[in-house]
Amino acid sequence: MSNTVKVTEVLSLTHDVKQIRTEKPNGYQFTPGQVTEVALNKKGYQEEKRPFTFTCLPSDDYLEFVIKSYFDHDGVTKQIDEIQIGDELIIDEAWGAIEYKGKGVFIAGGAGITPFISIFRDLEAKGEVEGNKLIFSNKTGKDVILEPYWDELLGEDFTSTITHEKIEGHENGMINMEFLKKHVDDYSQHFYVCGPDQMIKDISRSLKQLGASPDGIVFEK
Ligand SMILES: Cc1cc2nc3c(=O)[nH]c(=O)nc-3n(C[C@H](O)[C@H](O)[C@H](O)COP(=O)(O)OP(=O)(O)OC[C@H]3O[C@@H](n4cnc5c(N)ncnc54)[C@H](O)[C@@H]3O)c2cc1C
Repeated sequence: MSNTVKVTEVLSLTHDVKQIRTEKPNGYQFTPGQVTEVALNKKGYQEEKRPFTFTCLPSDDYLEFVIKSYFDHDGVTKQIDEIQIGDELIIDEAWGAIEYKGKGVFIAGGAGITPFISIFRDLEAKGEVEGNKLIFSNKTGKDVILEPYWDELLGEDFTSTITHEKIEGHENGMINMEFLKKHVDDYSQHFYVCGPDQMIKDISRSLKQLGASPDGIVFEK
């Protein structure tokens, strides 16, 4: 069943990422890591549904999404960049993409961080963050979503790597076998990987060779 909800808050998190809050329909339920199909309630876009992940807590009285816009083609996310308070979204029911199964290493590329926002906010609310690590890969320093939040929440357990430039305080380069060996000792723990297709394939292959069984979601082809 779909619901129409009004946008109540819009915040720019980076040059191409917006945090969007909406009304929450009565009784609407999801678990951290779940997603829903979203369409814009405007002419020509009502049938253009795209999957986006909830970044709020199930107990919040609003819904929140963190959405990266692609300006290189006329898709839905280009329209989302122009969204205003009072505009409407059509959302479906929540469905599973990734779920927290226990302490481990979270590896995200770009907008692939979104399911981990909800999962870490949930762990934070329960006081269970300790023992989890986040490795976050982005092209440039200005692409890192919620960097101050991760720094404060995770401290040494947050590693940011930047692939297209060198910046002090960040690793430089792709997450490959060598990178993993440097940052992770235990491959029997959970591994959660989310990002572009090729990244999931490459990292999952390296993790498997190191003895891990990763859970992965592809966000972009
Ligand atoms: C389970 C799941 C959860 C997701 N959650 C989130 C989330 O929380 N936040 C988020 O930001 N994203 C999320 N995504 C990704 C998001 O759904 C896509 O970015 C979105 O569908 C793109 O919509 P679009 O209409 O702009 O692009 P589409 O037209 O659907 O195109 C999809 C992709 O194809 C490429 N592409 C298509 N046409 C062109 C073209 N002409 N030129 C160049 N490139 C092109 C782009 O790289 C684009 O990302 C999620 C994806 C999945 C599968």
